[in-house]
Amino acid sequence: MENITLDRCCIHTITTKPWALPEAVERYAAAGVKGISVWQNAIEGIGPHRAGELIRNAGLEIVSYVRGGFFPNTSSAGRAQAIDHNRKLLEEAAALGAPMIVLVCGASPDQSLETSRDQIREGIAAILPLAEKLGVKLAIEPLHPMYAADRSAINTMAQANDMAEYFKSPFVGVAVDVYHLWWDGDLEKEIARCGASGNLFAYHVCDWKVNTIDLLNDRGLMGEGCIDLKKIRGWVEATGFDGSCEVEIFSNIHWAKDQSLFLGEITNAFLKTV
Ligand code: ZN
Repeated sequence: MENITLDRCCIHTITTKPWALPEAVERYAAAGVKGISVWQNAIEGIGPHRAGELIRNAGLEIVSYVRGGFFPNTSSAGRAQAIDHNRKLLEEAAALGAPMIVLVCGASPDQSLETSRDQIREGIAAILPLAEKLGVKLAIEPLHPMYAADRSAINTMAQANDMAEYFKSPFVGVAVDVYHLWWDGDLEKEIARCGASGNLFAYHVCDWKVNTIDLLNDRGLMGEGCIDLKKIRGWVEATGFDGSCEVEIFSNIHWAKDQSLFLGEITNAFLKTV
């Protein structure tokens, strides 16, 4: 496996949440980072067209627009609303110039995980024609099982692979996020399966802190936790994947820091541990 360079480094805007988009773009570019994944909140007040121009003018590549999904709902009106919202997100992604949106698929604690998965399948089927028309790919992101109650009924690579393969479309694939998947004994096998079916669309990195204090906003910087990032990148690259390694960290601790210092820590950690 080759040593990584910042040419492979993409940062999610949420990682440096205190920065508005223009500052994030300027700082990432100055740090030598190549890519940016844009969270929806980052373009509020700017709009997707202007945000896209701003990013391209700085020489950054837009890797993904984050995030759609949340399809399951016990009411049909709620499910229809989710589909409408995802169509709007697809239009925004196209206007931004993002080639892909990430899907946090959703779940409802008021129904079974199987029912939620059926509704996720129906939701993706409903938005796929527009995704194909706009040329925006849909990346299903399996989430750690601690989120199975209300954030995602897709919790393993196997489940994400099953869902992606069902559609047999070059526009439906999987986003592999180490935070959610590092513990899975079948991960190597399922990453290989994902690559073999042409469905490995994205690779997200951060770390799992051993004494995590918040289930949502205490992700570790790469190297702060127990994930063997090089091993997993090896599995991902064995499939032929040579895309961005996307740094996605939600952390109250890191957001409280000077974000310029944090960005320096990110690029150092990226080069050393990813
Ligand atoms: Zn992710």
